[in-house]
Amino acid sequence: MSAKKSCKCTSKTRNACGNCSRLRMVFLMDFELGSIQNPVYYSFQAEDRKYKDDKVLAEQMFERLSKLHRGRYHKIEVYDNQASGKPKLLEFKKNETL
Ligand SMILES: [Zn+2]
Repeated sequence: MSAKKSCKCTSKTRNACGNCSRLRMVFLMDFELGSIQNPVYYSFQAEDRKYKDDKVLAEQMFERLSKLHRGRYHKIEVYDNQASGKPKLLEFKKNETL
């Protein structure tokens, strides 16, 4: 992946950004929703700065997002959006906590 920046984020940007956010979270939706793309979210940059620990940051995201998808997903995957290769950091199933 190129490191070229195609956004206008600064060190004060608060919202999520596919380039700059620290974490990328994917909700793997239930099979019955098979025609729907698995939703992908990026962490809020304000929270990236606030929470140094990836797990704590992921918990904040999950608290916010799980309400949107209540009961409709079976697994959540969390990736490091900044490391090269974007390795998976965490993975948990519905009804599990991080
Ligand atoms: Zn950005």
